[in-house]
This record gives sequence, structure tokens and C-alpha cells, in this order.
Amino acid sequence: MMKKFFTVLIAALLFAITPAQAEDLGVELEDISAEKYNVHIEKFYATLPKAKGEYKSRVRPILIEGAMNTETEVLIRALKNPVAYREMNYLFVAGTYKDYPVVIVRTEIGMANAAASTALAIKKFNPVAVINQGTAGGHDIALKIGDIVIGERSFDNSAYRSAYSEAGAGIDLTKQESIGTYAYDTATKKFQAYNEYFADPTLFNIAFKVANANKNFNVVSGVISTGNTWLECVDYINFLHEKYGSSCEEMETNIAAQICQNAGVPFIGIRVLSDNVTNSREYIPTTAKICQDFVLLVVEDYIRDVLKR
Ligand code: SAH
Repeated sequence: MMKKFFTVLIAALLFAITPAQAEDLGVELEDISAEKYNVHIEKFYATLPKAKGEYKSRVRPILIEGAMNTETEVLIRALKNPVAYREMNYLFVAGTYKDYPVVIVRTEIGMANAAASTALAIKKFNPVAVINQGTAGGHDIALKIGDIVIGERSFDNSAYRSAYSEAGAGIDLTKQESIGTYAYDTATKKFQAYNEYFADPTLFNIAFKVANANKNFNVVSGVISTGNTWLECVDYINFLHEKYGSSCEEMETNIAAQICQNAGVPFIGIRVLSDNVTNSREYIPTTAKICQDFVLLVVEDYIRDVLKR
């Protein structure tokens, strides 16, 4: 009895002292402690039934990707009859959403993990479309934390040839040329360099339609810059923004797009700003909820208008 009383008291105190900013973003305040959040989510995953045998679905599922627990929990909780699969320690949860098969993959952080888990998911689940989503850092001073970027295209901000300079001449990253990343081209039947990957036009249009119909989300279309580096050098960010038009940076989208291009699967990246060093030093990873809420609306319209279910 006393224990319960103190738990309630501590919860009330925590609530009272939590800063107000996240409230404005429509994010649950109690989710902000990453440590607590992860314990809680792992307990939830442990309750999911484990898959027995191979995935069987009459129709091809929609695959939604997120790197971290904070970026996948809302999606996984939205599934009906969820079943958990593990491949090479990546977590995949298959279920239905609006009575249509949907698979969520926790890709883990970074480019290699995004490539591996996307390839495994395509092999295992044969998705009809892939949405990579989650948090990102802003490259555009006009964008605020909590804003959503629908990626009309993405590029790899690590695939460059730097200009030659002699030893001792100093470092100037602005003298670099993009050399792209290699993906399969069905016309030439060869792997060729792509400086950017474009969103599937149908997915892009649906995402925009959802944005126009739901004015509670602040949505822009833009360019997603992907790399394993978390950039905080504002001059360099401004350079990427000016030269390549990047709206935001993160660590998975362009790689997942590359693998989807190999496999011929329609793809889109949708990201929410958790930080934007061009106008603030804050980092609010729980903005991931906003992105998942938006993506669920996109998925709903895609099922209804494109897949006609
Ligand atoms: N919050 C984690 C670390 C996140 S690492 C922790 O504290 O342990 C970066 C992850 O968030 C990647 O999956 C990436 O896609 C995304 N991300 C969000 N903002 C980013 C930024 N400014 N630069 C690079 N990646 C960012």
C-alpha cells in the first residue's frame, strides 16, 4: 500500500518538474528518459509471440523501418496480432494494420545495419513498399524540432572524392565531389553509381495528401542526407544545404533506398527533426512519436487508395 503511494507520488513529482517544451510537440513526457524507455519496451517485446516457421501472407506486406526503440514502438503497438521474428539479431514484427499485413523492422543505427536489415526484410517478407522513418537533424534553419521532412530524394554525405591538396595545405571539405553509391540498374543490367535516390512518386503523393489533410503536422518535402557522421559543424552543414539542398541528416534512409533500388521495391524516407543545430542545441528523440503517427496515416491511405484494400 505504502509502496504504491510512493510510486504515485514520485510519478506526480516527475510529471510536475518535466519541462514544458515536449508538451508542445505532442509527445508523452514520461517517455523522455531513454533508459527507462528501453527497459519498458524490452519488457513489451518479451510479451510478443515468437514466430514459428516462415512468414506466410497471401499479400505482400508494407515494410516500415525505424532504427531505435523510440522510432518503432508506436508502430509495433499499432499492429494487430503481432508476431516477432529475429534474423541476425535484428527484430522484425509482423502483424496487420487496418486489416492489411504490415511488418516493422528495427534496423538498428547506421548505414551497415540499415543495409543488412533492409536486405533481410526484403528476402524474408517480400514487401510491396518500404518506408524508412525516424528522427533526423535539421540542415535548414527554417525547420523546427518536430517538423517532418518527406524525402523527395536522399543522398550519401560520405560518398565523395575530395580535391587533391598537398601535405600541410590544410583541410577543406567544401572542395569535394559526390561520387554516389552503387545500385542495380535494370535497364543496363549493371550496378551503377547513383548520386541520389528518389522517392517512389506514388508514396510521395500519398504522403503529401496526408500532410495536406492533417494540418496538425508541420510537413515539408525535402532532401535527406545520410551518413554515419553526426554533424555539428554549422558551416559544413550550411555547405551541404547549399550545395546539395539537404533539408536534414540521419544515418539510414539513403542506404535503405539503395537496397530497395536493387530489389525494385518502391521506397520513401520520412523523417522528423529531433534536433537542428543550425538554430538550436536541443535534441529531443521522442519526437520520433510524431513521425510514427504521421507514417501510420500514410500507410492507411496507401492501403486504401493504392493497394485498394
Ligand atoms: N539517441 C541515441 C543516439 C542516436 S544516433 C542515443 O543517445 O543513444 C543517431 C540516430 O538518430 C540515427 O539512427 C539517425 O538516423 C538519427 N539522427 C537523429 N538526429 C541526427 C543527426 N543530427 N545526425 C545524424 N543522425 C541523426
